[in-house]
Amino acid sequence: MQSKQRVVIAGGGTAGWMAAAAFTRLLPGQVDVTLIESSEIGTVGVGEATIPTLAYFHKLLGIDERQFMAATQATFKLGIQFEHWREQQHQYLHAFGQTGQTSFACDFQHFWLRGRQLGIAAEFGDYCLESVAARAGKFAHLPNNGLNYAYHLDASRYALFLRDIAEQAGITRIDGTISAITTDADNGFIDNITLADGQRISGDLFIDCTGFRALLIEQTLRVGFEDWSHWLLCDRAVAMQSERIGELAPFTRSIAHPAGWQWRIPLRERMGNGLIYSSRYMSDDAASTTLTGSVSGEALHAPRFIRFTPGRRRKQWHKNCVALGLASGFLEPLESTSIHLIQQGIIKLIRLFPHKQILPSAVDEYNQQCTTELAHIRDFLILHYCVTQRNDSAFWRHCQSMPIPDSLQQKIDLFKQTGSVFHPGKALFEDSWQQVMLGQGLMPERYHPFADTMEQAELADFLSHVSGTIQRTVATMPDHQRYIATMK
Ligand SMILES: Cc1cc2nc3c(=O)[nH]c(=O)nc-3n(C[C@H](O)[C@H](O)[C@H](O)COP(=O)(O)OP(=O)(O)OC[C@H]3O[C@@H](n4cnc5c(N)ncnc54)[C@H](O)[C@@H]3O)c2cc1C
Repeated sequence: MQSKQRVVIAGGGTAGWMAAAAFTRLLPGQVDVTLIESSEIGTVGVGEATIPTLAYFHKLLGIDERQFMAATQATFKLGIQFEHWREQQHQYLHAFGQTGQTSFACDFQHFWLRGRQLGIAAEFGDYCLESVAARAGKFAHLPNNGLNYAYHLDASRYALFLRDIAEQAGITRIDGTISAITTDADNGFIDNITLADGQRISGDLFIDCTGFRALLIEQTLRVGFEDWSHWLLCDRAVAMQSERIGELAPFTRSIAHPAGWQWRIPLRERMGNGLIYSSRYMSDDAASTTLTGSVSGEALHAPRFIRFTPGRRRKQWHKNCVALGLASGFLEPLESTSIHLIQQGIIKLIRLFPHKQILPSAVDEYNQQCTTELAHIRDFLILHYCVTQRNDSAFWRHCQSMPIPDSLQQKIDLFKQTGSVFHPGKALFEDSWQQVMLGQGLMPERYHPFADTMEQAELADFLSHVSGTIQRTVATMPDHQRYIATMK
């Protein structure tokens, strides 16, 4: 390889432009980046809810929050409201913050479980600042990053925003359609990409951001795909944007249906809507009718259908090709994890970047980390489906009775039997599993005896101190919609 690495990014959706902006800002002078995108093909056009890690990515890239939010019509997101998931008419909020205060011996839920048994505890969500703020429709930037939040954003505008950053930093953008990919006959590495107009682009490292097509990693390098559709039954989406009417909620809504679920993502000027469903249990026509019938506000375009297979590429990095975004695999957007996985992939790649040559140890490490991370998220998603009391449709009956990964079964058993949750290393959603398990109706049989070390009166004081502090904080916060208006 030459001293300045020639990085070729194939694809200019969210994944391609996030990678281009990150490489140019975080590896200045070390990479020569070319991005190929096809305006003829376009992008998937969805992917508008995020999780709090995106703010960290933006900080790394030196992105100003106000500029980013104005450019992408963004709003704040404090969590996801799950409606009709445990049972019809039931709802709970998975909020981004920590619930209560932990102790060295056990987490807050143990104290809460004892308080609940004694009849002195409020709802679990009342002990989480982000949950109470979300339900009150409030938002503010609190001192010391006191409120965990993410964003709802317009995906097409986000790609344009990042494109601007990358182009200002000097990347080469080519609008063209890839017609062939040539590999080296000796080592199988990708050598160059040919476009329909005959242009040929060579590189050292190729980033496959071609979406579900996975032109490089799969269609050329044939790494194989691990299909998880036996655990995650949904394999279709129908999406539609509509005019926004009503208040600007600081959370995503996820509304369960007889064969899937619907998302509602509030942006400043419009709503993102979509239905994720299982083609085994719902026809495309029924999905479209369900979606259009439940969207409030005028539709801005006809419903668009997207097919997918849940799962992952067996390798995210193979030879001199790294797949990011939909090309690397896909898990339904139930917990808005895809954009997060793109950013994680980029950061991992920068940390293991092949400055001189591609080392098998770095490739193995990258793939190993991706495997662990994806399995953890996969289990978290399956949890929402398998722990449910819904049995009103064949889809939900299937979800209740299907075999699940051993890793998830172990977590469920542990929570049920001990009230505890443990994660390997530094895992995503550390404070979320308790919220979702309780929200889905999984109530532990016992709590940690450490919670008994408090006198009942002391426990009552402790619980009311936590919830009281939260209530007082939320009372000082402005309405989310008004707060956004002051940011314009
Ligand atoms: C229904 C649905 C809902 C989702 N919701 C969320 C969400 O709420 N939150 C979240 O984090 N993620 C979500 N995602 C995932 C998110 O949309 C993607 O992770 C994100 O948009 C990145 O997509 P991408 O860039 O990999 O692919 P794409 O947007 O499909 O971009 C592919 C790029 O490759 C180019 N390309 C393809 N073929 C060629 C060719 N032959 N020649 C040249 N260029 C080519 C295209 O032109 C395009 O530029 C959702 C996904 C789906 C399907």
